[in-house]
Amino acid sequence: MASLGVLKKRVDLFYHMYSQEAREQTFVDWPFREDCMCTPGKMASAGFVHCPSQNEPDVACCFYCLLELEEWEPHDNPRVEHIKRSPNCRFLIMGKDFLKLTLGEFLHMEEDRLKIYLKKACHIKMADFQEEIERTLGILKSMFDSKP
Ligand SMILES: [Zn+2]
Repeated sequence: MASLGVLKKRVDLFYHMYSQEAREQTFVDWPFREDCMCTPGKMASAGFVHCPSQNEPDVACCFYCLLELEEWEPHDNPRVEHIKRSPNCRFLIMGKDFLKLTLGEFLHMEEDRLKIYLKKACHIKMADFQEEIERTLGILKSMFDSKP
């Protein structure tokens, strides 16, 4: 899972990724180009943006539901993988090109996209807080246990 910092950068960047062309342009160093199921065009059509890092060069993330997938194989169908792991992604359910969205549809989608981001950000913050609680409890316990 992406860190909170990475998530913040993505949510801003992904505002510009409603366009399939913009998503496809992110797959500059993508290894699967021809004769396979996960070409840049098919990845972008399924909502994915290429988000490589030094340790994870083939990470692709849905610009909308923020589903993150890696370790792609040539026979992987990006749309099938996306639906399998994120069946409620409104981008996939809508199945409509950005240029054909009404203003109302776009605003609803953008509201939903931001809610997804906030939910993920809250999960990350809560997990960090839980870790801090457990760390502090461990320190306190060891202090009391070491008292004569
Ligand atoms: Zn999605």
